[in-house]
Amino acid sequence: MNRQSLLEHLKATPEFDICIIGGGATGLGIAVDAASRGYKTVLFEQYDFAKGTSSRSTKLVHGGVRYLQQGNIKLVMEALRERGLLLKNAPQLAHNQKFIVPNYKWWEKPFYGIGLKIYDWMAGGLGIGPSELLTKEETLALTPTLDPNDLTGAVLYYDGQFDDARLAISLAQTAVAHDAIVLNYFPVTALLKKQNTVCGVRVKNSLNGNLLEVKSKVVINATGVFTDQVLTMDNPEHESLISPSQGIHLVVDKEFLPGDTAIMIPRTDDGRVLFAVPWHNKIVLGTTDTPVDTISAEPVPLPEEIDFILKHIGRYLTKDPQLSDVKSMFAGLRPLVKGKSKVTSALSRDHLITISESDLITVTGGKWTTYRKMAEDTVNLVAEKLQSQITCITHELKLTVSKPVPPEIGKLKEDELVAIIKQTVENEMCLTVEDFLSRRTRQLLLDARVAIHKAPQVARIMAGFLRNDENWIQEQINNFNAIANNYLPH
Ligand SMILES: Cc1cc2nc3c(=O)[nH]c(=O)nc-3n(C[C@H](O)[C@H](O)[C@H](O)COP(=O)(O)OP(=O)(O)OC[C@H]3O[C@@H](n4cnc5c(N)ncnc54)[C@H](O)[C@@H]3O)c2cc1C
Repeated sequence: MNRQSLLEHLKATPEFDICIIGGGATGLGIAVDAASRGYKTVLFEQYDFAKGTSSRSTKLVHGGVRYLQQGNIKLVMEALRERGLLLKNAPQLAHNQKFIVPNYKWWEKPFYGIGLKIYDWMAGGLGIGPSELLTKEETLALTPTLDPNDLTGAVLYYDGQFDDARLAISLAQTAVAHDAIVLNYFPVTALLKKQNTVCGVRVKNSLNGNLLEVKSKVVINATGVFTDQVLTMDNPEHESLISPSQGIHLVVDKEFLPGDTAIMIPRTDDGRVLFAVPWHNKIVLGTTDTPVDTISAEPVPLPEEIDFILKHIGRYLTKDPQLSDVKSMFAGLRPLVKGKSKVTSALSRDHLITISESDLITVTGGKWTTYRKMAEDTVNLVAEKLQSQITCITHELKLTVSKPVPPEIGKLKEDELVAIIKQTVENEMCLTVEDFLSRRTRQLLLDARVAIHKAPQVARIMAGFLRNDENWIQEQINNFNAIANNYLPH
C-alpha cells in the first residue's frame, strides 16, 4: 500500500465506478466489497484511516447481548453471523473471547443463563462456544479479583475481540490488493454535479495542498458522525440524519483483572452494559452513552463519564481502580441514526442507506461487527444503479494481513523501532507520529505517558523515512502532545 503509486494511479484514471468518502469501518468495508467485485474504486479519508470512531470502539466483535435484552432479534442474528464470518476470514485480527456475567442475586443465573443460551442458539452454525453456568469457585478461578461477597456464580459465554485500527489497515490493504485506490489525508471538500446529479468529488491532498477533481459514476457518503456535513455539501437544506452519542473507555493495568476472561455487567444504575475486557495485556473498561452536540475528530472524556465507569466497575472488583490508575482514556462518537427517542442508548444501531435527489448514496449507523454486511447491502444497491449485478464475494474473502506490529513500543530497542516504523511508513501509509502511536501501534490507547515519552524518538525516525526536516519533527511532537494530553486523566 504505497501512497505515491496510488496517487499516480489516481491521476491516470479518468473516471471511477465508485468513489467513497470516509475511511472508517463503513467506507473501508465498501472499498473491499466494491473492488473485489471488480468495480473501479477510490476512497478518500480526510485524516488517517480509522481516525474517527473506528479506532475508538470497545474492540468487540459481538452480537450485542444488550440488543437481545432490547428485543432486537434481527440485529443480533445479523451481527452474530458477521461475528462468525470475521473470525473465519481474519483469524489473525479477531479471536474468541471468554466473558462472564457475575451473579449476585438469586434470579440472575436463570435469567442470564437462559438469555445467553438463546444467544448461542441464534449464532447457529457460526457459534463460537456454548455458554455455561459456573459455580462461585469456578467463577473466581477465572476472575480472581471479582468481588466474592454475595457472589453465587456466573454465566460464561463467548464473543469475539479484535483490534479495530489494525482491522481498518487490513481492509485498506485488502482493497488495494483488489486494485482500489485508498488515500488518507485527502478531505473531500465539495461534490461535483452534472445536471443536478453527483458525478464526482473535489478533494484536497493535505500533504501539499493540491486540489483535484475526481469523476465517478457513484459517490458514497460513509463519513460516520460527519454524515450531515457531507449531506450539506449535497443539499444545504437536507434533514439531519445523525444523533451523535459519546462513549468513553478507561485503560488500566492487568492486575485489576488478571487472566484472560472479561466481565460483562449487564445492567448499571442507568440501564447500560459495562465491560472490563483484557486487551493487549491491559484492561479496557467501558463504555458510556452520552448525547453530545459537538462533533470533533478528538472527542474528550467528560469528568462525569470517568466517574461513572470508576464507580460502577469498583462495585465488582476487590481492588477499586482510582483515577491515578488510569493509563489512558479514549472517547468515540457513535453515529446513531436519528429517531424519535431522546435517549441515545435507545436509538437504532441498525444501519441505514439513503439516496438523495442528486443520487448521493449515504450509509450510516451499524457497528464495526456488521461492517461487511453494510458494505454488501450498499454495493448491491450500487450494482443495481450501474446495472451490473456482480455478486458479492466478501463472505469468503480472506483479508490481507501485513506483518504483525507490536501494540506497545515502550520496551523496543532503537533498531526494532526503526524496522517497525519503516514497515508502517512504506506499507501502511503511516504519515504522522499520531498515526504511528495511536493506530499502527496502539501505544497511545494503552499507556499515554509512554506514548508521550516516545514521541520525539518516533518523530526523528519517521522524518528519516519521510524525508522531512527539523521543523516537521518539532511540529509533529507538538501536535502529538496536544492530542495525547487528553488521553491522560487530570
Ligand atoms: C464508544 C464506542 C464503542 C463501540 N464499540 C463497538 C464494539 O465493541 N463493537 C462494534 O462492533 N462496534 C462498536 N462501536 C461502533 C463502531 O465503532 C462504529 O459503528 C464504526 O466504527 C463506525 O464506522 P464509520 O466508518 O461509519 O465511521 P468513522 O469511523 O467515524 O469513519 C468515518 C470517516 O469519515 C471521515 N470523513 C469525514 N468527513 C470526510 C470528508 N469530507 N472527506 C473525507 N473523509 C471524511 C472521517 O475522518 C472518519 O474517519 C462502538 C462505537 C463507540 C463510539
